[in-house]
Amino acid sequence: MLFDTHAHVNFNDFKDDHEDVLTRAREKNVVMINVGSQISTSERAAEMAVKYAKTFAAVGLHPIHLQSFEVKEEGLTFMSRAEDFDVEAYALLAAKDQVVAIGECGLDYYHIDLNGDLDLIKQKQKQVLNLQIDLANQHELPLILHCRGSKMNPQDAYKDLLRELKKNLPRKRGVLHCFGSNWEVAQEFLELGFYLGFTGVITFDKTGNLAEVVRNVPEAQMLVETDCPYLTPDPYRGKRNEPIYVEYVVKKIAELRNLSFEQAAEITTRNAKNLFNVVV
Ligand SMILES: [Zn+2]
Repeated sequence: MLFDTHAHVNFNDFKDDHEDVLTRAREKNVVMINVGSQISTSERAAEMAVKYAKTFAAVGLHPIHLQSFEVKEEGLTFMSRAEDFDVEAYALLAAKDQVVAIGECGLDYYHIDLNGDLDLIKQKQKQVLNLQIDLANQHELPLILHCRGSKMNPQDAYKDLLRELKKNLPRKRGVLHCFGSNWEVAQEFLELGFYLGFTGVITFDKTGNLAEVVRNVPEAQMLVETDCPYLTPDPYRGKRNEPIYVEYVVKKIAELRNLSFEQAAEITTRNAKNLFNVVV
């Protein structure tokens, strides 16, 4: 069994063929958490988790959805819709059985409207993050955290996120999904008890930073994910990503840590079950 801890089969990219995508995952014994980024996609993730076996859901409001602006990502362009964090609506979802985490939430200084008041936007992101930490605590759920620094200073958002987490430490901790910083920053999150989530980026990262993090992270604190439809691993780069390709992330972890594929699969699956408190 493989455990894709961060998928978006609940997104429109899979509107027409999500059944096929989920069937392929089931056939390959890939369990997944579909992660919401605003209320509509969170509701959809929760519905899918009830309807389809071996799928779970996370519900939350992504920091890019606090502003309305054009987002360009991997050749795709879409409008982010501004949304207020509706505590009651998210609390209703968080209470559902198949909802195993709050997120994705966090800080994003990369996709930020540079025409706006930057301090105000960052302030708002921190405020909405803290509301989601409180919600996670009330429901005894872990967080799925998103963090991306600005183009000028890629570490800035990580530093700010650490500061927020130290002030308001989530009781069940969580995962820093798609970890993209270096080993020095990684250690600070690990010391607070967070897991690190690795995506297909580790299969093509040329900086060596991620390889260093993957080699050094304690065995019990690493997770794998696809973040599909984005971040497709080698050898399928350029294609739409989907949960079965989490296999290539596991393979890369096995290679970097001198493990067999089976060992890496077993470790990362066990870790996901522990963090998200699920039995599959
Ligand atoms: Zn995501």
